[in-house]
Amino acid sequence: QEQIVIIGAGQAGAQVAQSLRQGGFEGPLRLIGDEPHPPYQRPPLSKKFLAGEIGAEGLWLRPPAFFETNKIDHIPNTKVVAIDRAGKRLTLENGDTLPYGKLVLATGTNARKLTLEGADKKGVVTLRSITDVDDIRERMSNSKHIAIIGAGYIGLEVAAVAKSLGKDVAVIEAQDRPMKRVVSQAVSDYFTALHRARGIDLKLDTGVAALEGDDAVTGVKLSSGEVVAAELVLVAVGAEPNDWLAEQAGLETDNGILVDGTGQTSDTDIFAVGDCTRFYSNRYQRSVRMESVQNAIDQAKAAAQALLGHEVDYDPLPWFWSDQYDIKLQIAGLSDGYDDTVLTGSPEGNKFYVAYLKEGQLIAVDSINSPRSHMMARRVIGDVWRDDLLPDA
Ligand code: FAD
Repeated sequence: QEQIVIIGAGQAGAQVAQSLRQGGFEGPLRLIGDEPHPPYQRPPLSKKFLAGEIGAEGLWLRPPAFFETNKIDHIPNTKVVAIDRAGKRLTLENGDTLPYGKLVLATGTNARKLTLEGADKKGVVTLRSITDVDDIRERMSNSKHIAIIGAGYIGLEVAAVAKSLGKDVAVIEAQDRPMKRVVSQAVSDYFTALHRARGIDLKLDTGVAALEGDDAVTGVKLSSGEVVAAELVLVAVGAEPNDWLAEQAGLETDNGILVDGTGQTSDTDIFAVGDCTRFYSNRYQRSVRMESVQNAIDQAKAAAQALLGHEVDYDPLPWFWSDQYDIKLQIAGLSDGYDDTVLTGSPEGNKFYVAYLKEGQLIAVDSINSPRSHMMARRVIGDVWRDDLLPDA
């Protein structure tokens, strides 16, 4: 069997390797990653790992011996810088080259950076990796005031952890409500009230003009002219697909590496999986790019099946979660395009869910501390909405 090489040893890359071995692939299998660690899960980075409740070993996706036992050649600290498709060879950062038979790109995303004045000062950080969190934890222990730019999941999760560590925390958001891109007004309102009640200074409808300080950051200057003091500024304004390697190799990309329902790119010998991909969803009748563990795992499994010669057509029901303080938000389905919502349960009692409807059909459910409604929603989404479809919150 010809050699399969996977670029990117994260959630999706590790899953492809595991699924290939489980499915009976016996040829040489290489998993190349530019980080120093064994493949690990990222969700706890902004939750329990940042809080110090679990160590790095708690992040490993498989016990480190798993890769050796399964003859998966995990090569850490190694960045691939070019793909020669005609010669079927990769170039590594140190100049070495490596042949491939089939190639899988699992390169994930990069945190979006700000281009504002002062954005390169010391103490202005993004959060994507263990290395980032090691640095943030160290800086956080020496900071009293922390500013977070962006009230998406990662910004709000970090705000919750920083507050629990006794910091003064400001969250600055350009939109008029948190997590606006993905949740309804009711869910945003709930999280606005939650964070404010816990003492976060959540500033909505607020632009950032510059980051102040000499060498190190000392504050965030808002568009209003007000300055929010901060010795640590987390920029949490989303992520961008890591698709430059594919683009440079002439593969089709469009804000993500374009793949079909088997994970195949525009080159039949190259597949791509996880956060770095974009694919057409029949379910949603449009192209989608997901950033979730669900997608990384399920798309990786599908691509492995395709590489093993089986028929697959990946078109998932997406799901996601976020933990903020003791509140668990779980999302089933994509809610964009909804024309009605139904709230069941009690926001005051911190246990409710919001069903999103489109032309009478249930398309998504956001559950707050209500795992039962989340699990049910994953089963019944796509059904015509009835009041008895989901349980009490
Ligand atoms: P990644 O896990 O990012 O792995 C890509 C790997 O490829 C990286 O190690 C990268 O360094 C490496 N790489 C890139 N280019 C090269 C190259 N040229 N050569 C070698 N290696 C390369 N999802 C949820 O569902 N729920 C959550 O609660 C949640 N919380 C999150 C919190 C944080 C802080 C972050 C950052 C993400 C969170 N996510 C969450 C998203 C989830 O972690 C991602 O969707 C998932 O990790 C995607 O897996 P992936 O394998 O596609 O990419």
